[in-house]
Amino acid sequence: MTHKIAVLPGDGIGPEIVDQAVKVIDCLQRELGWQVELEHAPVGGAGIDQAGQPLPDATLRLAQAADAILLGAVGGPKWEKRDIAVRPEKGLLGLRSELQLFANLRPALLYPQLEHASTLKPAVVSGLDIMIIRELTGDIYFGKPRGVRILENGERQGFNTMVYAEHEIERIGRVAFESALKRGKRVCSVDKANVLETTELWREVMTRVAKDYPTVQLSHMYVDNAAMQLVRAPKQFDVMVTGNMFGDILSDCAAMLTGSIGMLPSASLDSHAKGMYEPIHGSAPDIAGKGVANPLATILSVAMMMRYTFNDVRLANVIEASVQDVLVEGLRTADIYTAGTRKVGTEEMGDAVVAALIRNVWRTETGGAPDTDKRCMREGGLTNEID
Ligand code: NAD
Repeated sequence: MTHKIAVLPGDGIGPEIVDQAVKVIDCLQRELGWQVELEHAPVGGAGIDQAGQPLPDATLRLAQAADAILLGAVGGPKWEKRDIAVRPEKGLLGLRSELQLFANLRPALLYPQLEHASTLKPAVVSGLDIMIIRELTGDIYFGKPRGVRILENGERQGFNTMVYAEHEIERIGRVAFESALKRGKRVCSVDKANVLETTELWREVMTRVAKDYPTVQLSHMYVDNAAMQLVRAPKQFDVMVTGNMFGDILSDCAAMLTGSIGMLPSASLDSHAKGMYEPIHGSAPDIAGKGVANPLATILSVAMMMRYTFNDVRLANVIEASVQDVLVEGLRTADIYTAGTRKVGTEEMGDAVVAALIRNVWRTETGGAPDTDKRCMREGGLTNEID
């Protein structure tokens, strides 16, 4: 069976980091005969420049026909002056809503080798392993009405609408509880139920869904406290589930616990485990074109693709073990560099992961497992969990 992957590099550092992830996929094809068809298309600013819109029709069709989508990042100063309705970010939001990718999985996991790259003390972050589950197709990002209107006194007023239907809360809740069953059996639902009716409903529905999962412990936390707890004592969390906007902010905060935003992959899944896989960071215009961006989040996104869409835990593990190998070897891009390690650029990091992958693939093929004791990503996935 040939797997179809739509490759959407996007803008800024997007093409540089996606190139490294494609090297990994090519390596799987070459070394293991993994059948794959890759097709590239523009999205975001590249979509605007090449086809006049952030999500060109051909790109959407390609994404719809693919089994999985690999995305870099979108946006940048070049397009910032455009009307918000036609900015690069609309390409990403359009893909998420058109493909109904409602479940965004963002594992925040600290590799032991990066304990000193985090801005927090090693004692606070060592062993960190949180799964942040963010609802992705609802909330204030999509709610209507929205816009900027002129008031009677001539002043302009901006407005957006926070909105969640019960079924949207319930389905993301189930993803969180199913995920917790495979992990530490604890879900923390994050809301602002003390002031927002939408999230009061969120809390009520989460409490109801929890009754179907008696072995999972549910707790609730206000988002302001959750932000504080993430930097105070992050290891208290197992699975965090929250809405689109709170999840956006909290997952960036969690990213820094792991040393760099350049380390965090993500999966955005529909109800049939079709997914879009991307690093959680943006297009990083400040370092674009310099060859210094960290490609590991994008490469780890390919591992998530293997686990969640292609249901191939073995390949996911081998990719993750290979990323860990290069960290053990002491290779670091600038964002995770610490004294005593070797600073490398984007390409060199990608090549090193591919070299480690070839070693691990051969070790696996000849009977040995990749160094599973070194691996720190969890086994298992949600592939069959979100019916
Ligand atoms: P950003 O994530 O692009 O960058 C924040 C900081 O992290 C920057 O200092 C950047 O250099 C650094 N960084 C990010 N990725 C890195 C990597 N792989 N390696 C090393 N350093 C890395 O966020 P921003 O600066 O707020 O946004 C820049 C643009 O990206 C904006 O146009 C924004 O709208 C867009 N954006 C896109 C996405 C997406 O495509 N999913 C997400 C967030 C922001």
